[in-house]
Amino acid sequence: MVDIFDSIRGKVVLVTGGSRGIGKEISRHFHMYGAKVAINYNSSKEEALKLKQELGNNAEIYKADVSKREEVRRMVKEIEETLGKVNILVNNAGVMYAFPFEQYDEEKFNKMWDINFKGTLYTTLEVLPHMKENKGGVIINIASNAGIGTAFEGTTFYAISKAAVIMLTKRLAFELGKYGIRVNAIAPGWVETDMTIGGKSPEEIVKIEEFMKARTSLRMVGKPEYIAKFALFLAVADYLTGQVIVIDGGRLDNLTHSV
Ligand code: NAD
Repeated sequence: MVDIFDSIRGKVVLVTGGSRGIGKEISRHFHMYGAKVAINYNSSKEEALKLKQELGNNAEIYKADVSKREEVRRMVKEIEETLGKVNILVNNAGVMYAFPFEQYDEEKFNKMWDINFKGTLYTTLEVLPHMKENKGGVIINIASNAGIGTAFEGTTFYAISKAAVIMLTKRLAFELGKYGIRVNAIAPGWVETDMTIGGKSPEEIVKIEEFMKARTSLRMVGKPEYIAKFALFLAVADYLTGQVIVIDGGRLDNLTHSV
């Protein structure tokens, strides 16, 4: 039987924000298929160490704040010297702050912009020289369905930062295709992680889950593994680039369905 994920074996995969939530599941899935996984973390050292322990060989952890270019540069150098040069980059690190449109909060917006957009840009810039030299590479950006127009009050500026990630995905696919580098994005819907249920009581979580189920065609709650499975597929989808794949259980509250 043909193993469609065979080409992942031995590849070096960098997952930013790879120790928690969606990133953690992506790290696990690539490791499961034989990749060498570079798990980036910023403040979650304990989670990163735990994950490294769980995965064992072929998993290393690297500290860097992706919104700081020098830190990203140093991290990628460190990865190259230890695990090897990056073949697959998953730009997953992100933050979300919700506040009403008219209470625009510059500090929070800047943080979302710097981590969600610039973090994606900086990490991409650092892995590109090797990918170009290697005449191939895969970049997977974790955007959000917020970036294409789901309706959730208070998330306008988060949505803007993710819309920028989506446009960066399309433009990079256009610019980098000639080097054999594929760039795609996943736009997840609501997924159960610290970002969405962190600090909530079990009763509150059940309420939120019911609310979110009612907003999807599938009447299901999003789980990190649904996103991770698709990230694996993107890594082997030879003829796919510049695409934004929405994984959201068929959300019913879109202002627009355009991508
Ligand atoms: P999470 O809070 O569990 O994980 C976010 C990860 O990013 C953490 O590991 C965190 O340490 C890391 N991170 C944050 N700032 C960082 C920085 N400056 N440098 C390096 N790492 C940093 O949330 P999650 O839900 O797993 O989010 C993962 C990605 O998925 C994010 O980009 C998020 O915007 C996106 N997303 C999440 C949802 C959802 O509903 N959970 C929906 C759509 C998109």
